[in-house]
Amino acid sequence: MTGVTDSYIIAGRVCYGREFELVDAEIEVENGIIRSVNEISSAPDQWIFPCLFNAHTHLADTVAMDAEIKQGMTLSDLVAPPNGLKHRILNETPSEIRIDAMTESLRFMKRSTTAGFCDFRDGGVNGVNELKTALRLSGTGLKALILGREGGEKIADGIGVSSTKEGEHVLRLAEETKKRGGFVAFHAGEKDNRDIDNAIDAQPDLLIHMTHANDSQLRRCADLDIPIAVCPRSNHILGQASSKDNPPIRKMLDFGCKVLLGTDNVMFVQPDMCAEMSFTYYAYGLKSEEILDMAVAGSELINSPFYIEEGNIAAFHTVNPRASNLRFSRSPEKSFVNRVAFTDV
Ligand SMILES: [Zn+2]
Repeated sequence: MTGVTDSYIIAGRVCYGREFELVDAEIEVENGIIRSVNEISSAPDQWIFPCLFNAHTHLADTVAMDAEIKQGMTLSDLVAPPNGLKHRILNETPSEIRIDAMTESLRFMKRSTTAGFCDFRDGGVNGVNELKTALRLSGTGLKALILGREGGEKIADGIGVSSTKEGEHVLRLAEETKKRGGFVAFHAGEKDNRDIDNAIDAQPDLLIHMTHANDSQLRRCADLDIPIAVCPRSNHILGQASSKDNPPIRKMLDFGCKVLLGTDNVMFVQPDMCAEMSFTYYAYGLKSEEILDMAVAGSELINSPFYIEEGNIAAFHTVNPRASNLRFSRSPEKSFVNRVAFTDV
């Protein structure tokens, strides 16, 4: 990761722009902004890739990491508010431990190439303030889009709705948030497609999961430019997906939807975007550049794109291929997506 107040030049094999074209180049950075990217004839043997944006997290659920799950527990038993297992553990945990847990997860995210994230935060105003405190204590400088609920949405960047199945009142809260200029996101289609249409009707800024969306629902998202954050590992571990058909990522891309990648709940899944990209590559048969774009494009939700281009913020990281078998790679981009671990960064 890079400093933000100095001026410097760094050279290497740069994964440039939105097309992720690999060029030997030097990047000139001034006060945290990329001033120029100039091709050079020979560059040091290091890869320079954009940092990643984790488009869906529940960081506080770090306190419930790998909690015992009894046989027969449904998705609702685990995560649905207000009495799902995760909510019971969150409520029993003292505030300072929740803050400590989020701080450690934020530090892990920074070590594993993530420079920004969008989090669903429970616990009302207090819950949102806890995450803000953790962000400060972590010293990571990660860019955050914090979505609260139960009143937390009023001091956060917007609202993160569990599902329209919660009832009419969540649609009203979403509308009020939108009127205030806040960001509106819904979980939708995680278990079935019954909570998707009314979520789309609310014209949100982001939908999460869409694991069981049908074709017409995907077309509506494409037509209305509503980005979709998919969380493949979470869907598989929670039994909501068992093949590349759910979430229908190939179809989403073919229909022209903007697809983003997220790791979802730290209770079940480490917030490691390198691992999420790798799983998606192997399980969904997508092109590496499609997956890399899903892992970077969330940065546009906060109007701060991480693509390595003139005028963007300097949010990139280096991989040293000489330190491992990566030096034999014939496609740094493919290798970054399907096999680079955070320890290589
Ligand atoms: Zn979620």
